[in-house]
Amino acid sequence: MTEAAKAPTLAKFASPVDRFHLELEPLKEAGVKLAGIYCVFAPVELVRAAGAVSVGLCGKKQGPIPDAERVLPANLCPLIKSSYGYAATGTCPYFNATDFILAETTCDGKKKMFELMDRIKPVHMMRLPTDKSPEAQALWLAEMRRLAAFLAQHTGKAVTDEALRREIALQNRIRRALLDVAAFMSEARPPISSLDLMGICESRTFVLDQEAYLNDLLALGRELEELRAKGSSPYKAGAPRILVTGTPVGRGSEKVLRLLEDAGAVVVVLENCTGLKGVVGLVDENAEPMEALAKRYLDTPCSCMSPNTGRFTLIDDLTRQYRPTGVVDLVWQACHTYSVESFDLGRHVTDDLGLPFLKIETDYTESDVEQLRTRIEAFLELQAL
Ligand code: SF4
Ligand code: SF4
Repeated sequence: MTEAAKAPTLAKFASPVDRFHLELEPLKEAGVKLAGIYCVFAPVELVRAAGAVSVGLCGKKQGPIPDAERVLPANLCPLIKSSYGYAATGTCPYFNATDFILAETTCDGKKKMFELMDRIKPVHMMRLPTDKSPEAQALWLAEMRRLAAFLAQHTGKAVTDEALRREIALQNRIRRALLDVAAFMSEARPPISSLDLMGICESRTFVLDQEAYLNDLLALGRELEELRAKGSSPYKAGAPRILVTGTPVGRGSEKVLRLLEDAGAVVVVLENCTGLKGVVGLVDENAEPMEALAKRYLDTPCSCMSPNTGRFTLIDDLTRQYRPTGVVDLVWQACHTYSVESFDLGRHVTDDLGLPFLKIETDYTESDVEQLRTRIEAFLELQAL
């Protein structure tokens, strides 16, 4: 990484907690309800069409994990422990501000954790099917309608087709704008760093004024175009280009991304939930809105789905666009679904895409940093041969 000019609008994404409080105050005064969400399966369009707003709560830091382990087993995914720890200790300002939690039956650890969280804050659980059969589609559509009824009960506002269409159109515009910003990483020398891009994607779930977030993205896109035209980039020419897939990361759990970039690589694309997994795929604006919403969310290529062929298709598409020279599969310790899926993914990446593949299993601590550094440096050296 080298010193390079930064797009001025990046500052707007830098302190999400300050922005959140500023935006929340008038909404709370107006009686608007705040839903806490933990997953990209949560249909934010529906939440907003019912007159509520949402905030992402996934725990990304090690801090609250020791407290969580008083209740949860130590050999559980750090994301689940961190999420629960924040809730149990009352140390997350976002969680504290919520009126209720919107949860889904994704992996076993998460859904059992939600049973405990329900004792702290009301949890509405959506029953997520694990495939895309007609029966699964019908169940998920029914779950969308059940969520709409739950939201109406809390907000006093029934979801209308008109409101849902408006929110679908807004989120589609945000997805397009995010994809346009992310596309700068396909440049030989991108005008933005991958960690800044991760922060922008992550901020999407913290910014309550989604129109303002969209306008910031559009302004950022214009600034990045100017930087690109000037040849400004924090990266050196010829650096290894890495696609990172697997479990979610964010501010506080970006250890592997930092190690990759410290070792001279460019993380050109994050396929996971904090990256493009939750952004690709628009909701069909010409179809019946609730059905279109249900279809789009059930298409999310998470390892909780069985089979999860959509993830391989997405990685193929991203490989064509971002031209990585290697793929890193990041798996949080005790995440069985991503860990098992890693075997087939590794074969696909090496045999079908012809790219080197590295599976990294770790947690939120710094205890394995030196060991990981050595493995990552060796992996990157292979790409230089
Ligand atoms: S990995 Fe799957 S379960 Fe976890 S946050 Fe992403 S979509 Fe949700
Ligand atoms: S990373 Fe894996 S174990 Fe952790 S919450 Fe997501 S799917 Fe569940």
